[in-house]
Amino acid sequence: TPKKPKKIKPPDVIIPANIDWQTDDTGNRVPVSGEFGDVYFSHADGLAESRYVFLQHNQLSERLANLVPQQCFTIAELGFGTGLNLLALWQLWRQLRATYPELVTSRLHLITTEKHPIALNDLTQILALWGQRAPELADLIEQLLAAYPPLITGCHRLNFNDDNLTVDIWLGDAADSLASLDSETALKRPYIDAWFLDGFAPACNESLWAESIFAQIQRLSRVGTTAATYSCAGIVKRALQDSGFEINKVKGFGRKREMLAAVMLDETSLKEAALGKATSDSNTKYSSRITTDNNANNLFITTDTPRHTIVIGAGVSGLLSAWTLANRGLQVTIVDKAAPLAGASGNPRALLAPNMTPIHHVYEHLHTIGYLYSSRFYRYLNTLAASNNSAPVFEPTGTLDLLVKTNIGTQQIADYPNEMATTLSAEQASDMSGLKTQQLADHLHLPQSGLINPQALKKIILAHPLITFQQLQVTKINETETNVCISGLHNDSHERDCLITIEADSVVICAAYESHGLDSRIVDCSTIRGQLSWFTPTAEQSAKLPKLPLKYSGYCAPFIGQTGDGDINNIEEGQQQFLVGASFVDADKDISIRSDENQQNRDKLIADIPELDSILPTDTSLWQARAGIRTQTLDYHPLIGRLAGSKRLWTLSAVGAKGYAIAPICAETIADMMLGCFTPLSAIMLARLSPNRARLHKSP
Ligand code: SAM
Repeated sequence: TPKKPKKIKPPDVIIPANIDWQTDDTGNRVPVSGEFGDVYFSHADGLAESRYVFLQHNQLSERLANLVPQQCFTIAELGFGTGLNLLALWQLWRQLRATYPELVTSRLHLITTEKHPIALNDLTQILALWGQRAPELADLIEQLLAAYPPLITGCHRLNFNDDNLTVDIWLGDAADSLASLDSETALKRPYIDAWFLDGFAPACNESLWAESIFAQIQRLSRVGTTAATYSCAGIVKRALQDSGFEINKVKGFGRKREMLAAVMLDETSLKEAALGKATSDSNTKYSSRITTDNNANNLFITTDTPRHTIVIGAGVSGLLSAWTLANRGLQVTIVDKAAPLAGASGNPRALLAPNMTPIHHVYEHLHTIGYLYSSRFYRYLNTLAASNNSAPVFEPTGTLDLLVKTNIGTQQIADYPNEMATTLSAEQASDMSGLKTQQLADHLHLPQSGLINPQALKKIILAHPLITFQQLQVTKINETETNVCISGLHNDSHERDCLITIEADSVVICAAYESHGLDSRIVDCSTIRGQLSWFTPTAEQSAKLPKLPLKYSGYCAPFIGQTGDGDINNIEEGQQQFLVGASFVDADKDISIRSDENQQNRDKLIADIPELDSILPTDTSLWQARAGIRTQTLDYHPLIGRLAGSKRLWTLSAVGAKGYAIAPICAETIADMMLGCFTPLSAIMLARLSPNRARLHKSP
């Protein structure tokens, strides 16, 4: 049973930064914080200062250049602000990767915190200034702005895959965000390698220099971790020293007299320093303590890093776990007794739209966090699909959510930023959907949602050079100190079963309700049959059906058949379709098609939107359909993590009916845990999702 993390008070709704534009001595317009009355960056030359203070004095050029393959270097920043430090860091990282080809599988992870994030339109203006002054940043600025998240509390993971750069922006108070970083669950404990202490001056804002912050800095650092700050204030010096750092006062940037660089010491050196054997002004002693050899101090133990992983199960959880691990440089074999997507994940389309929750709960709401990450992730896969000349994975249609009004009330979600959800008048909703009904007033539009094409997703994932698929009905998993072997039956091209054994250094079980049969430490979950229906509308029907997906007590969506849709779902390319989903039948594992469930799907839709009764074809026995079995735990949360008592067996299963929304962030999480990196989910959330959580294992 995992240790229970400390409860953190629910953070407030995010209040964006109040940018006060001022004119500096040279007539340039510069952004100043309205909340704190301080500057975001030096007006002399913010970019040069950022490079000098944070990059140079954490010795990043040397340390990053020395990363070994697959190693992840983690930097934490207090105060994301305008993202200038990120841009400077990103540019350095790009230069280093271009210079040292051996960095191709190494990874850079920036964890940054921000209480008052700058609204996108302000940030666009601020960064436009940098785009002009430093054209080398222009491309990075464009990518950052495109990925900038809606201003909602919690962690927003931005992956810049082409550069092996992960940026986790934790919105909320830094003390809460740092306390949320989990360092217990991973097999190998993650640490921060370097800190950018970039709060406003302590005199303007004490909160980023508070004791609670330094307690977290200490918890998350290890011997050799460095920190840099432009501030030389007494409280900063003392707090760093009290947290186990040796400090070094160096010349500040430009006209500034001094700044601080610091390195965490081991206990002996700390004692020496306390006895005065080392003085904090001694530059030579100080720099000898910063090692740029990442293998010194045992910072990275390569033998612990998995190289080859087996993923059991080729549904959405398995495919995404495989892709995420392969994206981190691991060799992955996916095995399944049937073809990929033969189970519940193989519907013709999946609707990516969040189950909305009142905004005060959002930071601990896996669906919202998962949805926000997924909508970025699937858009990225679209770029891969485009360069591969294959069908897009994601169609950004937006969705009209008719459910929220009745379920939680529109008032409860009024504080959501418009990028995530906007409330529509009846007229707007009618224009958007083509429906006439007056009940449409006050419903929500979810602009970033859309339809996922599972077959297109499968194609991209299986095309990854590090992923192979093997048909295999696994019957045995054998874990030893040094490896794990799976064996089972493979049905060869002559329909003969042959016994196959595959060896790897870790296994991720993603076999939904069948996971329990593979390892009894994974709880036996409940099964819910779901049937999705679709039909080919006539041109006349098509013109009157909703123009975008709708979420009501079920969901419906128009879509057009694409290449690959014929493989398992008998849909012609270019053909207009309309889907209506989906039934829920408890404790049923049968996947035969039932005509009455097509009828139920139709009935549910017209009960909520009666005007569609005259448009939907009435003989539902002629509709096409597909049934699958969803898997759910007693508390509805999926299972993510390492199995109790095991070193090499992991699971990501029981994603229920929301697999396409939550699997991408869950896959990131499991990859982070396996590789000893910080996850994008809080410690509290990880405990809630642990496959070993006590509430699932209590005897009835
Ligand atoms: N690193 C930034 C850049 O590259 O533009 C500049 C950071 S600015 C000097 C300090 C930032 O700290 C501001 O954006 C401010 O909103 C943020 N901040 C202040 N108090 C905070 C707190 N308690 N938690 C998180 N962020 C905070």
